[in-house]
Amino acid sequence: MRATIFTKLLAILLLTISIMVSMFLFVAHSLNDDFIDRVYNEVEFVLNENATDFLLTHADKNMDYLQGEIVNSMYFSNADEILSSINKFTNDSSTDAIYVFDKNQQLLAKMSKYEVKNNTQLFEEAEYLLGIHDEAYIQIDQKLAIARSFYIYDEPVGYVLIVSNKDFYSNEIDVSLDVIQSLSLIQRDKHLYQYTIVVTLSTLMFLILAGTLLTRLLKPVRRLKQDINNFGERSITSKPFEDYPNDEFGELARSFKMMRDKVTKREQEIVRLAQFDPLTNLYNRNYLINRFETIITDQNTQVICLYMDLDNFKEINDTFGHDEGDLLIQEVAGHLAMLRTKEHEDPFLQKCFQECMTLSRLGGDEFVLLFQIQDISISVYSLGYQIANEVKALFRNRLVSYHVSSSMGLSLYPLDGATVDELMKKADIAMYSAKSKGKGRFEFFNEEMSTALARDRMIEQNLIRALEEEGTPQFHMVYQPQYYLRSDKLVGVESLVRWLHPEQGFISPAEFIPIAERKGMIEKLGKVTVQLILEDMKQWRNYGWDIPVSWNLSTVELLKTDIVDYLISELKRANIDRDLLNIEITETALVTDLNRAKKQINDLRQHGFRVWLDDFGTGYSSLSILGEVEIDGLKIDRSFVSAIGNGETSKTLVVDALVQLTNTFDIYIVAEGIETKEQLEYLKATRCHYGQGYFYSKPICADQMLDYFKQSAELKSAVNAC
Ligand code: C2E
Ligand code: CA
Ligand code: CA
Repeated sequence: MRATIFTKLLAILLLTISIMVSMFLFVAHSLNDDFIDRVYNEVEFVLNENATDFLLTHADKNMDYLQGEIVNSMYFSNADEILSSINKFTNDSSTDAIYVFDKNQQLLAKMSKYEVKNNTQLFEEAEYLLGIHDEAYIQIDQKLAIARSFYIYDEPVGYVLIVSNKDFYSNEIDVSLDVIQSLSLIQRDKHLYQYTIVVTLSTLMFLILAGTLLTRLLKPVRRLKQDINNFGERSITSKPFEDYPNDEFGELARSFKMMRDKVTKREQEIVRLAQFDPLTNLYNRNYLINRFETIITDQNTQVICLYMDLDNFKEINDTFGHDEGDLLIQEVAGHLAMLRTKEHEDPFLQKCFQECMTLSRLGGDEFVLLFQIQDISISVYSLGYQIANEVKALFRNRLVSYHVSSSMGLSLYPLDGATVDELMKKADIAMYSAKSKGKGRFEFFNEEMSTALARDRMIEQNLIRALEEEGTPQFHMVYQPQYYLRSDKLVGVESLVRWLHPEQGFISPAEFIPIAERKGMIEKLGKVTVQLILEDMKQWRNYGWDIPVSWNLSTVELLKTDIVDYLISELKRANIDRDLLNIEITETALVTDLNRAKKQINDLRQHGFRVWLDDFGTGYSSLSILGEVEIDGLKIDRSFVSAIGNGETSKTLVVDALVQLTNTFDIYIVAEGIETKEQLEYLKATRCHYGQGYFYSKPICADQMLDYFKQSAELKSAVNAC
């Protein structure tokens, strides 16, 4: 058993009491013994005195008697008469011997029951004392003697010595004393017994008193302990830590109460933090998992899991700082929450947003929306489609301060998975797939996506390694010649990066560039390409060829980096003129952040670089953008060129319109992907300025380019003509 303070205190108390009792008994006992000894001695003394007194008085009386009897006989020295007189005392138990001396101290007669020891000493003492007084008392050992001088008319006739023995009385005294002692002992034992009873009773009383007192004292401690235990087990039923007395325990209880309140508050905060995302106040992943577990306990339930991620959030975050990024996230969260209160045309959809949606943020710019559909007959596919369109509309309507779009992936329960993790993973894969196909899209999960995702992951990991390798040997540039269509003259080349992986072989830039952009590797890759291009340009120059090179600049790089300074310094180092570098940017830059894109483009152009708008016609940008941004030219996307001769009249008409427009804006136009003579002829007829494509040449490496230059010996004059 565990020793409580109570039992410890009790043990100490008992020990103290037993020590006290033993001490008390010991003292009482020894005091009693002492007392008995004293009484014994006193009684012994008194008895002795009395015996002496008695013997002496008795002897005195005998002496008086003898004086009358034998004084005359002594005068006449009649020993016989004396003897008969003294022999009468033979039966007197108190008298041991009687000696009668004449005036010359000569023994006249004696009566002696036994031979008295030390007679001589006795006689000498008597004679000495009688020389001073007429009567003397002598005591030697147990012997008592009385001596008296006898006279007849003042004439001394001798003296008589009566010897008594105290021995007889001593025995009597001893017997009496023994009786007294045994009586005292009985009395003492009786007292001891009484003491013991009194002590035991008082100890018991004391114990009961102490016990009651302790229990009363310890009661609040126990109560406090119970309250603390209850609090520890969170089983707070009564009002704990209250109605305590106004003493130290009360203070202690109140301190505990304060502590409990603080702990409870903190716990509530922890519970809140455990369920909510502090930035947006939406639910977090933990809550989502629990919620899903609850949802699927209902067998008739279907779940739509919508995974959403903002496009270009990383760029916004990196360019404008994390505070701006956070504000954007909060804004998006607010708009998602508003889906609940927004009026939707379809009442079922309205109900879905209002009652079936669990809104959560996983972190970063990733949100998950769970929809619980408690009806197995409903087509969650078409409902998911409607929902995703509603979410997409939030961004299209430019509700948020930055023009961001969102990519979404959807997965369905029970079709795609049985756990929320599986569901989220698949929705994430679908989202990833949607994102890789362009911004602002959504897709439902299908199994092929997993394979695509696995390949993306493989590319990502290999790209990291390839970029870290000394001298980046896995990368090289190829160049596609660009022509002035009217004279078929070579006017420049477009540089295109190539990645030859030692095991995977050739990996297309169309595959790895978007990954590099998404995973923050594009800047590094951009710098690698610049270095490779400059090396090749220097090599060509050595052979006398200075040719304009178009360099593809990713949107991410344009918006983020100090790309202008970098290009200026690198070109200077390589001693290459800035007007030899054309920069191709895509529309996405203009759409993501027009102001910053405009500033960067202006900066580049002011420093002598030419800027071209790539893939024109594929993105969101409208022609009106051309009025806002000053550029040197635009490249019609290959899809429009391939429409020529395909019977796709609408696209062909776009080419016509674009050529007309560029003439109005006084900018150049390059047609990409010219593959057939027919296409070339058409473009020439519409007065398109420049062109490139397999019809002229596929992209070729730097060395092959040299041969190509030689074949186009008239290049220099052609360039001058532009
Ligand atoms: P892009 O800038 O539109 O480049 C043109 C793409 O069309 C190149 O593909 C080129 O090989 C291909 N092409 C050219 N003529 C024809 C043709 O007649 N028919 C067909 N079918 N295709 C033609 P590539 O090299 O696979 O590059 C794909 C995309 O990857 C490029 O599209 C560009 O966006 C990106 N890219 C390539 N190299 C770089 C680079 O060094 N830096 C950056 N940031 N992006 C690059
Ligand atoms: Ca390009
Ligand atoms: Ca292009």
